[in-house]
Amino acid sequence: MSEEKSSAVGEQPARRRKKAAEGPSRPAASGSARTGGRTAVTPGETEASGATRPAKRPAKPESHLAMVRRARRINRELAEIYPYAHPELDFRNPFELLVATVLSAQTTDLRVNQTTPALFAAYPTPEDMAAADPEKLEELIRPTGFFRAKARSLAGLSASLRDDFGGEVPGRLADLVKLPGVGRKTANVVLGNAFGVPGITVDTHFGRLVRRWKWTEQEDPVKVEADVAAIFPKSEWTMLSHRVIFHGRRVCHARKPACGVCPIAPLCPAYGEGETDPEKAKKLLKYELGGYPGQRLSPPPDYPGRPAPPLGAG
Ligand code: SF4
Repeated sequence: MSEEKSSAVGEQPARRRKKAAEGPSRPAASGSARTGGRTAVTPGETEASGATRPAKRPAKPESHLAMVRRARRINRELAEIYPYAHPELDFRNPFELLVATVLSAQTTDLRVNQTTPALFAAYPTPEDMAAADPEKLEELIRPTGFFRAKARSLAGLSASLRDDFGGEVPGRLADLVKLPGVGRKTANVVLGNAFGVPGITVDTHFGRLVRRWKWTEQEDPVKVEADVAAIFPKSEWTMLSHRVIFHGRRVCHARKPACGVCPIAPLCPAYGEGETDPEKAKKLLKYELGGYPGQRLSPPPDYPGRPAPPLGAG
């Protein structure tokens, strides 16, 4: 991936992206903060008479209602920061999204996007993929890793689509999870993005961030999904998932979260887990926020960054 800084960041229209590059006006640890024109007070803060006072540890744990309000505020903030949030897998139809999501296990969306053009050129339909020569199929998806198991899943789910669903991807969770290699996460991705059925995608980023934000303490993805589903209306589920995953990939990384430039730091109980120095934190930003190419070779028109390079080009 190129280290070259892009001018795309400077072209981003939303003030939130500027804010992302500048960092939070007041970190959670230092007092109350203005967010999006609203006054946000973190669980550890006190606000009075417009004056900023040092953060205090809350005398009582945050109530469930306060957590829900804070969670919804984080979602609103993320919507302003990432108005262009989207699935980061390239696809043109439900079958391509299903295949790409299966391939995305244990690898990056970028690597999947660099692999699928040749795959879909060779096997554009479930019928084609079900009839594929196993070795050729394995070879085409080899760059995504675990290619033998993934090839078995793709052949199996394609045969099932052909034999049980008339060659169409079903739009019901109960049907999708019966397909070989398709779990609840994959099914929710397909439902939310190919069928417009609200779904929460609990991947590694989503789970990490919602635990940092104290929306849940659960580790099991199904329980995480249930806890988060109880906080937000269904209509928010799909876009919430994209926003949280975008933030996890760009700012709130597993090892070194860029707390010093995180626009939602005032709302985050985990502020300080990562780099708090704004200059150092800025260098940790990824994709369009860091001036790098994105993950999609064919990003949506409103994506403010650069497209990803094809396989072998970078
Ligand atoms: S841990 Fe740091 S980077 Fe992550 S959301 Fe909280 S303040 Fe932002």
